Amino acid sequence: MKHLYKKIPKIDELLNLENVKKSLKLYPREFILEILRDILNIYRQKIKNGENIEINLNIISNVFDEELHKKSQKNLKRVINATGVIIHTNLGRSKMCKDAINHIVEVAENYSTLEYDLENGTRGSRYSHVEDIICKILGCEAALVVNNNAAAIMIVLDTLCKNTEVIVSRGELVEIGGSFRIPEVMKFSGVILKEVGCTNRTHLFDYENEITENTSAFLKVHTSNYYIDGFVKNVKVEELNVLKNKYNKIIIEDIGSGTIVDFSKYKVYSEEDLVQNSLKNGADIVTFSGDKMLGGPQAGIIVGKKDLIEKIKKNHLLRALRIDKFTLAALESTFRCYLDEKYAIENIPTLKMITYKEEDLKFKAEQLLDLLKDLKEFSIEVEENFSIVGGGSMPKTKLKTYVLDLKHDRFSPEDLEVKLRNSKIPIIVRLEKNSIKLDVRTIEEDEFKYILESLVELRCY
Ligand SMILES: *Cc1c(COP(=O)(O)O)cnc(C)c1O
Repeated sequence: MKHLYKKIPKIDELLNLENVKKSLKLYPREFILEILRDILNIYRQKIKNGENIEINLNIISNVFDEELHKKSQKNLKRVINATGVIIHTNLGRSKMCKDAINHIVEVAENYSTLEYDLENGTRGSRYSHVEDIICKILGCEAALVVNNNAAAIMIVLDTLCKNTEVIVSRGELVEIGGSFRIPEVMKFSGVILKEVGCTNRTHLFDYENEITENTSAFLKVHTSNYYIDGFVKNVKVEELNVLKNKYNKIIIEDIGSGTIVDFSKYKVYSEEDLVQNSLKNGADIVTFSGDKMLGGPQAGIIVGKKDLIEKIKKNHLLRALRIDKFTLAALESTFRCYLDEKYAIENIPTLKMITYKEEDLKFKAEQLLDLLKDLKEFSIEVEENFSIVGGGSMPKTKLKTYVLDLKHDRFSPEDLEVKLRNSKIPIIVRLEKNSIKLDVRTIEEDEFKYILESLVELRCY
């Protein structure tokens, strides 16, 4: 045993290994030392356990490379989304457009006018950078942005409805992923929830019967990825508008995804109400997410009447819910794309993926097939299938797509799924009817090479 201990090299010796020397130029010294100490400790432990091991600098050098690779991997890393779910909440929802990315980099690398008024050389407001462009695109009087839509609803209720009654249809008391539940959010915001109607049907008179002096608002909530079919009735914003005027109340709508583009123009079936229409039809405040249908960064966007938004801006909660400069940059650039709808469709990834033409998807699938066709141990076919938008957006919309059905000679679909998930760039796939589907709708062409690489690497197993 003693003789084995003696074979363990000194740290100084290891620091002279070529690959270790190289790594010292790329990583902090202490990080590298820790890896080396860990390796040596493992050897000591093995010797102590009486294992008969071989120790030499060559082996240690190889172990070091492996450990360095493992330890230098980021926890939050890119993946390839082959699921066909465009707004995949677990995979980061919307991808950002190039304009937004460039803007984030510019603001990250430099000082900026975040809270500086260039015209007057005085302190400015961080919110002013996006308000004008949002108002222009949506035709609203005022706008404010916070951390996410959940925060938006909270600050709206806290400012405008605290200690008063807010009327909500029972069909809209929903839970949205990540434990966001409307009744609890209302309670948390100090609002008295008055539920009306039934799960499947709510009428205008239900709302009217519940109005008291202490009622401040009607709250409409988008039911996200939940819907009931059949004997159903919802009260629309334009109907509530009549009550609102008669009784002098306000209408707040959590419209969830925040669709701005009329997708029927692009032959995409959608039942989403546009944010602009909700405002036109009488909603005083509308809130929505920045990273769903808008295709921007995580944010909660509050739009509507100027006097109400001004009140929200004075709420001290705003300081805790405020967005950072990167979000602000990305939001401004994303909204700017919408000045020209065609530009928005072509440049905002979420919109581009929703409006993909069928023939383009087919072509893309065939291209990927062509790249992978020589891999002998796989049998791959192009198939028609459906993608969904995801993120609780357009739940009834099935988008016709093309997928690659992937089978392996030896690995079961379940094993293959795990292996793809553990690739250098993880590939997240759909496991359907006992086979692997790669939906090309959410895969970029420049990701094809990584898929090829991963499949080639599987041969080594
Ligand atoms: C997604 C969603 C939310 C939550 O939005 P976040 O931006 O994730 O906080 C709230 N309400 C509705 C209707 C939604 O669809």
